[in-house]
Amino acid sequence: MTRYPYRHRLFNHGRLLLILGVLLAVGFMVTSFISYEVSKRSILEAIVDQSLPLTSSNIYSEIQKDLVRPVLISSTMAHDTFLRRWVLQGEADVEEMTHYLREVRQRYGAFASFFVSERSGTYYTGDGILKQISPDEPRDAWYYRTRALTEDYEINVDPDLANQDALTIFINYRVYDFDGNYIGATGIGLTVDAVRRLVSEHQQRFNRKIYFVDKAGKVVLVGSSARVLNVDLHAGAGIGPQLAQILAENSGSYQYADANGNTQILQVNYLPELKWYLFVEQGQDVALAGIQRTLWINILISLLITAVVILFAHVALRNYQHRIEEMATIDKLTGLLNRNAFTMLMKKLLADHKRDPQPMAFLLADIDFFKQINDRHGHMAGDDVLAGIARRLLDGLRESDLVVRWGGEELLILLRHCDLSEALRIAESLRRGIGEEGFAVNGQAIPVTISIGVTEYQAGESTEQAVSRADAALYQAKNAGRNRVCVAPEA
Ligand code: GH3
Ligand code: MG
Ligand code: MG
Repeated sequence: MTRYPYRHRLFNHGRLLLILGVLLAVGFMVTSFISYEVSKRSILEAIVDQSLPLTSSNIYSEIQKDLVRPVLISSTMAHDTFLRRWVLQGEADVEEMTHYLREVRQRYGAFASFFVSERSGTYYTGDGILKQISPDEPRDAWYYRTRALTEDYEINVDPDLANQDALTIFINYRVYDFDGNYIGATGIGLTVDAVRRLVSEHQQRFNRKIYFVDKAGKVVLVGSSARVLNVDLHAGAGIGPQLAQILAENSGSYQYADANGNTQILQVNYLPELKWYLFVEQGQDVALAGIQRTLWINILISLLITAVVILFAHVALRNYQHRIEEMATIDKLTGLLNRNAFTMLMKKLLADHKRDPQPMAFLLADIDFFKQINDRHGHMAGDDVLAGIARRLLDGLRESDLVVRWGGEELLILLRHCDLSEALRIAESLRRGIGEEGFAVNGQAIPVTISIGVTEYQAGESTEQAVSRADAALYQAKNAGRNRVCVAPEA
């Protein structure tokens, strides 16, 4: 039944909740980000210190098996006494050379074996003479390159004419006569597919990009989709600016930003047998995807927890606030506003009145012969009567009217938007209503009447001035015999 015509905020807990929310959210975020950074650092350290070097050395040892052997075979061919004698003796019996090359090819499971003679320009294979080489033929460029080499051999990835243009790695080994004069190039070729399969397999297994780069910075062998073949890494952004340093250092780990802005961690190892660099790289974004997802989930959970905590805090605070306000402003016995709360409200109402003067009336009601009621029926019954009257007053008035427990059994009523004649009418009806109905306490009828003093608020005056005028009118009503309404004389 309690009514709060004006709800007074003793304090606003919005700010408290905001601070609580910000503290929780910031705390959670900081913890999440710190643990993310710690995980990130250890993951990156593991990549640089362990996983990339391990992958690199794994691949190296596998590749070594597959590629170093052909180099050794080619070296053996280049130093073969038969081969060199056969050339020096004028390349007489083609069948002998063919037989020799076929033997080598079959014995070592190569796809191709060859000898190109410097003197005659003839290209011999295990199947006989393939062709005459020519400086004008782009496909023969490898020979002239080999001829110009200062080193003993080169490893070259080329389409192989004799092998339906399948991509083949050729080891082109320089051959010298017994006096150290250059007399041709020999070696074997093997299809790249086997090596590429190996690289691709590693690439998938470890989620890395694996490719080989020659001393000129050109990509010479790639795992599937790692790099574009034959691209010069000097060109283009990303790795380009660091390439000279990388190639000079032979091995090390590096970082660069790729075309999409992702940081790539790169491990480089020089493979002296192949004269190639093995590049193994891993995108930081891929490596960190897992903990990044964890970070987002953490943040989401943190925000949820923060929201739930704030919700609980809000409900709890609102309930406490409600109770505290009630205790501070409501009279316990009657459920009416207490004098304190009313005084606070009046400050606002009088300010409102100054801005927008609307008629207001004060009614001061006092129970007639209340002492007798107490004496006859007991203090408890008196309390019941007092509370009952309060309830009747509330029931008979509008929501916007204020009813205050002014003193012991004195009740003050403020009627807003109400002039004197209307106030008189209302006071009269309240008085009559209470007087006619009476009260029943413990099954016993107790006749109760009230007297009321009425006055209209005068602009500019204080609450005390208006109430004391109503008090004077109440005194008049008591004097005139009680159970009546009196109007205060003009101020
Ligand atoms: P009058 O018609 O002149 O007002 O006579 P009265 O007996 O009502 O006289 P007065 O107003 O002076 O007396 C007030 C009495 O109300 C005195 C006090 O014991 C009693 N009273 C005040 N507050 C309470 C209360 O909360 N409960 C009860 N039971 N009695 C109260
Ligand atoms: Mg009284
Ligand atoms: Mg009294």
